[in-house]
Amino acid sequence: MDPGPDTRLIALLGDPVHHSLSPRFQNAAIRAAGLDAVYLALRCDPDQVEGLLTGIAQAGGAGNITIPHKEHAARLVEVPTRAVERTGACNTFWLQDGRIHGDNTDVSGFAAAARMLIGPPAGARVLVLGAGGAARAVVLALIDARADSIHVLNRSVDRARALAQGLDSEGRRVAVVEDPSELRREGFDLVVNATPAGMHPDDAAPLGLGRIARTGAVLDLVCRVGGTTWVRDAAARGIPAADGLEMLLHQGADAFRRWFEQDPDLDFMRKALR
Ligand code: NAP
Repeated sequence: MDPGPDTRLIALLGDPVHHSLSPRFQNAAIRAAGLDAVYLALRCDPDQVEGLLTGIAQAGGAGNITIPHKEHAARLVEVPTRAVERTGACNTFWLQDGRIHGDNTDVSGFAAAARMLIGPPAGARVLVLGAGGAARAVVLALIDARADSIHVLNRSVDRARALAQGLDSEGRRVAVVEDPSELRREGFDLVVNATPAGMHPDDAAPLGLGRIARTGAVLDLVCRVGGTTWVRDAAARGIPAADGLEMLLHQGADAFRRWFEQDPDLDFMRKALR
């Protein structure tokens, strides 16, 4: 459908956005559903986020938020979901009953990608690399899925401690790995890379898999067409592994549900993405 006066604008706000795969698969899903909407990526500065987010929503549009504006967006939306409140990050916004709602579909997107790889994570032992926004979404999804234990390893240990304290103040499920040499004695059902290491072909691996006693499966949140070196290394060791494309797809599908109150055609989206 060609854009017209009633076309809804669904915008991705971030910086940078030129590499984003979201316009490709969201526009494919919009077309497949025969909706009068268009998904565009808009690069914007921090001081432009409030005006764009509120203006687009009030004009009947909706959108996604990406790096580095997710925390700012979490403070701007009027009706945050529990995922936004607990992670302090918002990646999806829309207007409902005159108020701007916000969700963090990275949480549900990760949960869906992890289920596809290892089945329900209930009872699983998981190692999470990184302690930024994506790691918070991952840890929250794992707590909600009743993972047995979640170990967090980050370059700056203080940030890992803050993440653990913020999401699991009683320290029942989330533990901080203070020294990577501890991992020689540890086995995990799933190891998740929630750092950007691997985005560029010459990046060092987020963690050499030989440093962990046992790795059941590997989920790399980094999206690279052709796969990441870390995923290829895991596959060469016979470890089931997936990159970030499936999580990207599922966070996008959940955002689509918030905007249009209907399910997208997942197969169509997946084909457009891959
Ligand atoms: P972020 O908030 O900037 O956090 C990055 C984290 O990675 C920090 O803990 C940082 O450690 C660590 N880190 C950065 N560079 C590193 C390196 N070279 N080696 C080891 N650790 C490093 O970023 P984010 O929002 O969490 O995103 C992390 C990654 O997840 C990005 O690649 C992003 O594209 C990806 N992601 C994918 C999806 C998906 O759908 N597939 C969704 C969300 C995010 P310090 O604390 O020490 O700085």
